[in-house]
Amino acid sequence: MDVQHRYKTVSALFIALISLSIVGCLGSSSGIDENMNRFPSTANPGFTPQAFLSDSNFTALELEIDYMPGQQPTQAALDSLKNFLQNRLNKSQVTINTPTEVASAGEDSYSAEEIRELEGQYRNNFTDSRGNTLHAYFLIVDGKYQAQENVLGIAYFNTSMAFFGQTISEVSSGIGAPPKEKIEGTVFQHEFGHTFGLVGSGTPTQSDHKTAASAHCTTEGCLMEPSVETANFFANLFDGDIPDLDSACIADLQANGGK
Ligand SMILES: [Zn+2]
Ligand SMILES: [Zn+2]
Repeated sequence: MDVQHRYKTVSALFIALISLSIVGCLGSSSGIDENMNRFPSTANPGFTPQAFLSDSNFTALELEIDYMPGQQPTQAALDSLKNFLQNRLNKSQVTINTPTEVASAGEDSYSAEEIRELEGQYRNNFTDSRGNTLHAYFLIVDGKYQAQENVLGIAYFNTSMAFFGQTISEVSSGIGAPPKEKIEGTVFQHEFGHTFGLVGSGTPTQSDHKTAASAHCTTEGCLMEPSVETANFFANLFDGDIPDLDSACIADLQANGGK
C-alpha cells in the first residue's frame, strides 16, 4: 500500500467514523448520549418522542408541576391528563406530582426565553439516562404568552411545557364559557402531543395529515388541530368535551413506540 493510498484509506475511515457519530446523534430519538449518561432536557420539543412513547429506555413517567399564585391546576384536568398518558404511552407507571406553588415573576406576559429561565430557577427533577423514570415538567405562569396573546400553552423544551394562566382564566370566565378543567385538560394533552413529536415533528407521519404551516393535524376535531391551543377554539369550536386524537395521530404514535 503506497502512502497516497494509505492516506486515502485512513481519510475514508475517518470520514466514515464522523458520519457514523453524526447519524448516531441524530438517529437516537431516545436522546440518550451513551457516553455522558445524560439525558437532554433543553432540546427542541419532539426531540425525544420514543423516550415518552416506548418502554425500552424508561418504564415510568413522572410529571413535576409548578404554578404561580392563583394558577393551581384543577384536579379534574390532571386526572384526564393522567388517563391520556396511560392510554398512549407504554409506561407501567405514570405519576403526576402534587403541584407546587412558586413565586409570581410579576409579568403581564412571558416570553419563551423568560419561561426557560424560570424553569432553571424552579425545576427540581431531571432524567438520568441510567434510571427507569423519564421526567417531564409543567410551568403555569400568571400572565399571557408574549409572542401570541391568544395562546394557552406551549411546548418549549423536549420535556417541558408551559401554560398561560391568565389567558386560561379569561377563556373560562363569563356566561356560557367552558369550565376551566376542560380547557386545562385539552391544552395539557395538546402540548404533550407536541412533546410526543406530533404532527410530523419528531414522530414520522404514517399518512398525509400534517398542516402545511405547523406541526398540527388537518383532521377536523382532532386534539392536534392548530386552533386547539388558542382561545379562539374555546370561544367558537369547543363542544364541551376534550377532543381525542384522531386515528391518523394515534397511528403515528403507535408506529413510533406508543400505543
Ligand atoms: Zn399545538
Ligand atoms: Zn390528528
